[in-house]
Amino acid sequence: MPDVVVVGGGMAGLVAARDLAAGGLSVTLLEATDRLGGKVARHTVGGLELDAGAESFATRKGTVAALAAELGLEPAIVQPNPAGAWLQPATGAALPLPKTALLGIPGTPLAADVIAVVGMRAALRAQLDELMPSAVAAKERTLGALVRRRMGDGVVDSLVAPVVIGIHSRHPDELDVDVVAPGLRSALRGAGSLAHAVLRLRDAAPAGTAVSGIEGGIYSLVEALAADLRRRGVVIRTGAVVSAVDAGGVTLAGDDGERIDARRVVLAAPLGAETAPSILLTTLVLESAELDAAPRGTGVLVAAGAPGIRAKALTHATAKWPWLAALAGEHRHVVRLSYEARLVDGLAAGALENRAVADASVLLDVPIPPGSVVGFSAVGWAPVPLAPAPIDGVTVVGEGVAGTGLAGVIAHARAQAERLLQGMKP
Ligand SMILES: Cc1cc2nc3c(=O)[nH]c(=O)nc-3n(C[C@H](O)[C@H](O)[C@H](O)COP(=O)(O)OP(=O)(O)OC[C@H]3O[C@@H](n4cnc5c(N)ncnc54)[C@H](O)[C@@H]3O)c2cc1C
Repeated sequence: MPDVVVVGGGMAGLVAARDLAAGGLSVTLLEATDRLGGKVARHTVGGLELDAGAESFATRKGTVAALAAELGLEPAIVQPNPAGAWLQPATGAALPLPKTALLGIPGTPLAADVIAVVGMRAALRAQLDELMPSAVAAKERTLGALVRRRMGDGVVDSLVAPVVIGIHSRHPDELDVDVVAPGLRSALRGAGSLAHAVLRLRDAAPAGTAVSGIEGGIYSLVEALAADLRRRGVVIRTGAVVSAVDAGGVTLAGDDGERIDARRVVLAAPLGAETAPSILLTTLVLESAELDAAPRGTGVLVAAGAPGIRAKALTHATAKWPWLAALAGEHRHVVRLSYEARLVDGLAAGALENRAVADASVLLDVPIPPGSVVGFSAVGWAPVPLAPAPIDGVTVVGEGVAGTGLAGVIAHARAQAERLLQGMKP
């Protein structure tokens, strides 16, 4: 009987299993599919090995970089092109995203780059934030509600929503402030206004960019973790679908309902019914000299209602990551477009490719003739699971409880593994 059974071989499960094994426990990891990594995955498009899910990580608190360093990947950590991203507003042409902002919340509402995106009227409304007592909206639970009350609907709808949806695939009105913007609420109390809180948090952030990448792709982390787990003697079973968990072990789906007992159970997977994909990530590999100039920086976030465009975000991956540009070669470009699956449901693969090419052409403002498409792929991803109901004696990790994003998921999984280790000390 293993000390711990970990259910789910995504980043949360892999990291928890590693820390528990490093703490001296015997660990069995069960993964439903035939590969490890979950939403960190790799695929080959146009002859290039590319990340098929997460492609960067937040540098917040140095969490991911610390793990990468432990795995020997520190030399591979790379910074993105600082050119930054653009925003396609609901009307008019794309504009560079305001420079001084946090999740799109402006630090200087009357800055020219903010006015250009939201308009003068909405910028003036946002400036009213300065005149409000700091307690106003400080107790709002969602990011959307907090920013709406302090800065008005214009800033939320035109700026915060496209940025937040691009990162978290959820509207700011649905997201807990403390999960997506830790420290914002207390900075608001201390700084007196939301704009000043944003500036304070930005000043406190380590120098450099808010995200980093890994040369070779984020998937390198999964490969390194898997190798490390094997070295530490963790038993890894793929194709092991868990149907039920309790404090004393897990039951596998299948006719014989195999039972694996353990002293502790870590749940790092959403149990229950299969969920249809909510996000469709399309990847285009293009041959285009016009894209060499990176006309829209590292990519474009799209505001709801932008006419004729269905993608919600575009990443010009070869403009963002110099290592990828070098790998792709001259005039070769990797462009990722994400879609809400329901908006492109029913499109056959060919029609989806045409859709992605049309959107990329508008968003990047370059013609993309059919002959320039070297490769295309579409991958569907399930929605972020809801936090499961607590099960006595079962430790839950993963994005359902930690929020979307590798930095949060990894920090949370490590903290939970540490707690478990402390609790199991003789
Ligand atoms: C397209 C896309 C792009 C993203 N880009 C970024 C990014 O650039 N930067 C960033 O920080 N984050 C990004 N994210 C978010 C990030 O990838 C996730 O938050 C994170 O990988 C979630 O890890 P997890 O381990 O909690 O869940 P998952 O990766 O979903 O892992 C759960 C695992 O459990 C397994 N499982 C499910 N059910 C069972 C069962 N019954 N029995 C056994 N195993 C089971 C699954 O197969 C899976 O392997 C992106 C997400 C997507 C979808």
